[in-house]
Amino acid sequence: MVGIADLLSYLDESPSPFHAVGAATRRLGAAGFAVRSDAAVDSAFFAEARGCVTHQGAAVAWSWPQDPVIFRGALFVGAHTDSPCLRLKPRPNACAAGMSLLEVEIYGGVLLNSWLDRDLGLAGVVHSGDGSSRLVEVRRPVARVPQLAIHLDREVNEKGLVLHRQHHMRPIWGAEGGDVLALLGIGTDETFDVALFDTTPAALVGANSEFIASGRIDNLVSCWAAVDAIRTAAADRPMIVCLFDHEEVGSESTTGAAGPLLENIVGELLRVRGLAEARFDFLRQSLCVSADNAHGLHPNYPDRHDSNHAPLVNHGPALKRNANQRYATSARGAAIMRRVATEAGVQLQNFVSNNAMPCGSTIGPITATRLGVETIDIGIPQLAMHSARETCGSRDPLALRDLVVAAAQTSAY
Ligand code: ZN
Repeated sequence: MVGIADLLSYLDESPSPFHAVGAATRRLGAAGFAVRSDAAVDSAFFAEARGCVTHQGAAVAWSWPQDPVIFRGALFVGAHTDSPCLRLKPRPNACAAGMSLLEVEIYGGVLLNSWLDRDLGLAGVVHSGDGSSRLVEVRRPVARVPQLAIHLDREVNEKGLVLHRQHHMRPIWGAEGGDVLALLGIGTDETFDVALFDTTPAALVGANSEFIASGRIDNLVSCWAAVDAIRTAAADRPMIVCLFDHEEVGSESTTGAAGPLLENIVGELLRVRGLAEARFDFLRQSLCVSADNAHGLHPNYPDRHDSNHAPLVNHGPALKRNANQRYATSARGAAIMRRVATEAGVQLQNFVSNNAMPCGSTIGPITATRLGVETIDIGIPQLAMHSARETCGSRDPLALRDLVVAAAQTSAY
């Protein structure tokens, strides 16, 4: 098992979902997992004891023991690789005021103000006409969205900053007449999915390094914990880690949790082992941990939480409950997870949103609906969710990883 330095490195290696999949598969490959892209997979590949299939910004990895305790089912762990950001439009070059600008599309629930006055790089994937693809990136600061001076917006502090999504978020990146595709080495006959990211590296912050500051803490922390757990857990039951894309925009895509990716792979994993007919028994006795960050209690805004169900940063992962099923955790699932937490020596917290402040949702209810597996929504508490630079505790990610390892090894389900 690795420590927090590896998480900081994972965050920095993963400026886009495609990079996040690459950083995950590098770690899995080093631990002996066979890794293939979906285009290169045949059915025999699913017989691998430790394997991983990547599909653009998503990946599904499994660890399948030789003689699994099959009728105790599997542990599924779900997380998402995407984060709200600014993405280049297909024709990204623009100019105004003697400068080159980028035409961007706003992806997901971006906290727009957090992208102002930051040193931005570019990262993503490029596809060529011959079917090949490659990652591209410009890691040095090349772009900025400069804030308007206070002298030109005198009431901004009293009335709040209002940003027009089309007009005010275009980054500048050079003198008039620049071609950002040439900068990225993208040919005119190629297509791309490229996002901007804050080039400031992930950092430990606080008098005693109590916090982590980084982009994409939601939800790369969970991806990292899931990957570290599957490569180190010594479990006698199958474990399946699903890193989905497009959670921030509703999960409805071929690589999102609402798509058939996981279901198809589970079908293949069972079929090559002669277990296709045991599918119902297998799923019925499995458990799914859907890991996605929770809102930690913000010391300056205590009224935004229900004070009895407000998770504190660095006090352990939070079980997320919602009677209206925005989170999948049931009382039965919560009982299993409490036992697992006790076995792991990990403190669990409760998150239920303030009734006047409806919560978001995540992949948990979607995978629960698709697979019918008992699903637990859980996540480390963080601050500044969906900011270009978010904050979480430096102890919680390790606790989440330990909890997932314990969930793979427990006899609680
Ligand atoms: Zn999330």
